[in-house]
Amino acid sequence: MAARPGLRGGARGAVDAGLAYAARLFDAPGGNDGFPVVSIVPVPGRRVPGRGATVIPIEGGRWIVTLSGTRGGEPSRSEAGFEAFLSSLDHPVVHGLVRAARPIGPIRTCRSTLNRRRFHEDGAPAGFTAVGDAVAALNPVYGHGMTVAAQCAAAIRAVLRIEGLHPGVGTSIQRRVAQVVDTPWTMAEEQDRGFPGAKSNGLSAKGPMDRLARWYGDRLARAALTDPAVFAAYFDVFALTAPAARLAAPAVAFAALRPCRRRPPTAAEAIGRHRRVAELAGHP
Ligand SMILES: Cc1cc2nc3c(=O)[nH]c(=O)nc-3n(C[C@H](O)[C@H](O)[C@H](O)COP(=O)(O)OP(=O)(O)OC[C@H]3O[C@@H](n4cnc5c(N)ncnc54)[C@H](O)[C@@H]3O)c2cc1C
Repeated sequence: MAARPGLRGGARGAVDAGLAYAARLFDAPGGNDGFPVVSIVPVPGRRVPGRGATVIPIEGGRWIVTLSGTRGGEPSRSEAGFEAFLSSLDHPVVHGLVRAARPIGPIRTCRSTLNRRRFHEDGAPAGFTAVGDAVAALNPVYGHGMTVAAQCAAAIRAVLRIEGLHPGVGTSIQRRVAQVVDTPWTMAEEQDRGFPGAKSNGLSAKGPMDRLARWYGDRLARAALTDPAVFAAYFDVFALTAPAARLAAPAVAFAALRPCRRRPPTAAEAIGRHRRVAELAGHP
């Protein structure tokens, strides 16, 4: 990443969607074998608080159910609030699943979901290298923080293998770390800036190239609903297992830019592909 004119080392970017979440463990009725992740994803840019819910099957035949809401639409810690939030979502599938499951722990909430970036690559103090959350602390709802921290450690190893120890190696490491955090930071701040009441400081303000990137991202997201190759690229980049350049590969770009002829599956069709989800959630 190139140095940013006018920024001194340690300058900060910050985006706060005001997102809060509440999570609870449940016993998965009948176990988790083949059970998919079920998610209702909030759409940014709709001028209403983003509200979503996810059921993730985890070890021990359990589900972790997470409700998330941006400013004005936050979930609460109370049983009644958890229930009311579920019933207010755009689709009833997660509510249906939760009603079929047994809670096995308290409701936990988290409100510290600020995305914060420190641009140490523009001039870190000599002899220090910052990694992980000290460079980019990301909204935990994206589940990227631990991967970023591990990738930063791998970046240190890669630079040391090439350059060995020398007085300027910290600068090389900081630049490599900046490349590591660039994609997850951009994804998180772009998503979170789109929600009503989101707050961002000047360093996160964006120009025409970023608006173009957002437009392309919207095309990709739409194409991913009907094109398995675009979905695979989109998912791998989001899971931080592939570089963002994969989204600009010719086949992916072509699929994203051509007029979409197939309609995306409806929620009922998507649920219908997973018989147990349909049965448990009470869908025909
Ligand atoms: C509620 C919540 C949920 C999250 N969920 C997920 C998730 O599901 N998936 C995911 O990938 N990430 C998640 N994250 C993010 C993830 O935890 C962090 O991104 C990751 O831990 C960052 O690693 P780190 O080593 O940079 O910092 P940390 O893990 O914070 O480690 C820094 C360490 O330095 C120590 N320390 C601080 N100051 C000093 C000092 N002066 N002297 C000595 N030691 C000091 C601290 O005690 C700490 O042990 C979540 C974060 C939060 C807050």
